[in-house]
Amino acid sequence: MKNEKYYITTPIYYLSGTPHLGTCSTTVYADSLARFNRLLGKDVFFLTGSDEHGQKVAERAEKQGLTPKEFCDALDVKFKELWKMLGISYDKYVRTTDNYHIETVQKIFQKLYDKGDIYLSQYEGLYCTPCETFFTESELKDGKCPVCGREVKKAQEEAYFFKLSKYADRVKEYILSHPDFVKLDATKNEMLSFINQGLNDLCVSRTSVKWGVPVPFNKNHTVYVWIDALPNYISALGYLSDDDSLFKKYWPADVHLMAKEIARFHIIIWPAILMALDLPLPKVIHAHGWLTQSGLKMGKSLGNGFNPYVLCDRYGVDAVRYFLLRNGPILGDAPYDNETFLKLINTDLVNDLANLLSRTSAMLVQNFDGELQPLSNNVLDIDKNLASETVCLVEIVKQYMDRLEPNNALQAIWKVVRLANKYIEDTAPWTQKENRERLGDILHNLYFVLHSVAVLLQAFIPETANKILVALQNDDKTFDTISHEYNQKIFGQKVEKTALYQRLDIQKEIQYLEVDSVNKIENVREKNMEENVEKQSLNNEQEKFNHKPTIDFADFEKIEIMVGRILTAEKVENADRLLKFSVKLGDETRTIVSGVSKHYEPEYLLNKEVLVVTNLAPRKIRGIESNGMILYAFNEDETEFYFVTPEKDMTDGALVG
Ligand SMILES: [Zn+2]
Repeated sequence: MKNEKYYITTPIYYLSGTPHLGTCSTTVYADSLARFNRLLGKDVFFLTGSDEHGQKVAERAEKQGLTPKEFCDALDVKFKELWKMLGISYDKYVRTTDNYHIETVQKIFQKLYDKGDIYLSQYEGLYCTPCETFFTESELKDGKCPVCGREVKKAQEEAYFFKLSKYADRVKEYILSHPDFVKLDATKNEMLSFINQGLNDLCVSRTSVKWGVPVPFNKNHTVYVWIDALPNYISALGYLSDDDSLFKKYWPADVHLMAKEIARFHIIIWPAILMALDLPLPKVIHAHGWLTQSGLKMGKSLGNGFNPYVLCDRYGVDAVRYFLLRNGPILGDAPYDNETFLKLINTDLVNDLANLLSRTSAMLVQNFDGELQPLSNNVLDIDKNLASETVCLVEIVKQYMDRLEPNNALQAIWKVVRLANKYIEDTAPWTQKENRERLGDILHNLYFVLHSVAVLLQAFIPETANKILVALQNDDKTFDTISHEYNQKIFGQKVEKTALYQRLDIQKEIQYLEVDSVNKIENVREKNMEENVEKQSLNNEQEKFNHKPTIDFADFEKIEIMVGRILTAEKVENADRLLKFSVKLGDETRTIVSGVSKHYEPEYLLNKEVLVVTNLAPRKIRGIESNGMILYAFNEDETEFYFVTPEKDMTDGALVG
């Protein structure tokens, strides 16, 4: 029997900024669906990627002295790193600058032109001459060019148009006759009302944007957004290429997943393009809500994009995945705040899940040397209840995942986890030490719940699921191992005593995330990345002059330098280069770690005056948090290395500028 196929996509992300927690929500969401359907035995193809053409990308690249392709290459690495960190199990990563994509886009453009669905006309818009760019009314800033602030004027340019108007009725008819096509009714109604207002034909080329796919029969034009970005879903499968076997196998998509700001492109424009190409439409389009912070959409442009690296670093990838899937914008908007995130870890992951595992495994180790006992013939109603709730769980979770609702799937799983914890309270296994048969049965039932839950959780929090399976020493990872019949066969497993998650001190962690200035950390990480990109372009210059690029006075003013006095200095264990200092800066004493131990003996340094950059974001070095940086002067090969000190004695805490 051939496996049922399942093709799921995220949108391709526009490469003009760095990813934040909001970007992660769609991708983690899609990943849970891909993983779940693989567990169901389906032949899954999970696509993500990046949208790399357009004026904004070209401008940002130019600012950094890079070609657009170099700029995109660097950002792509960053996105792929993030997806790797988050455990995203995509099968293909499509880039709109990939050759196969460009070729497919050109063939599609040609095909639609030959068919008469693309025609040449005049595009009219608001034009900034120095910037050579068209803007829409809403893009203007105080009625002027949003880039340079100059006056814009109405202007025309020659452009190709796609006959969207021709397909308006068919798209509307399709939405109405396929109730599952758009998941949310609110979205569906919004789209229908757009169509009812009347659709204009769509401008699908520009002469003023150079960074794009050239129109095959008129090289003065590049293909504009719609026919470049949207066809990634079929170009990635080899549509119109020499090998279209993937396309034949996987198209139409089972699910296109995205956030709501691009609903219209996917529910109106994309179906119209597919109709023009005589291709079947995707089965379900789901435009979910936004992850919000203080009521605003989380995003780079608002400066409130919460950094996923910081959260994953400190709390683990699965804590972030769990939050996004359980509390994230699966349907409508969902708020993010640190306290809710931290509390969710404590209640669900620590109190409920980790607790169940550690109690069960501890009792098994203590009483049966970790050996699971076969169920006796004296099973009680309370045992049967727990077992049947657990067995039913597979079907319940499957139904929710069919409906694209991992949040409800997790809620159902946690209902059983909590039931199992209550079962421990109700059966009080610690009172059954003398009744080995009863104790064995209770622990058998708990083991069954844990194993079943772990098998299901592979789709949501795979690392945690795997840890539980390892702790249970159980390699059975498929859904068919969750059953009453199977339950009879699992005795004889050894279980290690283990702990999954540690309880968090919420107030302390809020401080870490808020007072300890995540923004600084985020800025540092982002700067690091941009510096790396810049470095590539400035390498030549630097070789010549050995200088860093010029910075604005405003940038220099951001740096705070003070005179500090070294109170103590000691070598860091197992790190022969590092010294740990405590440095007095007026009223404050800071811990700073520096890699200077081969140049200085700690004793020599006491009471010495040094200059300290005091507003550098804290960094963890060998587990020690370093707050600031001591300044040194050194020659190129670091054979000479000296502290920078004030010419005359100063009070510590004095400013340097
Ligand atoms: Zn301008």
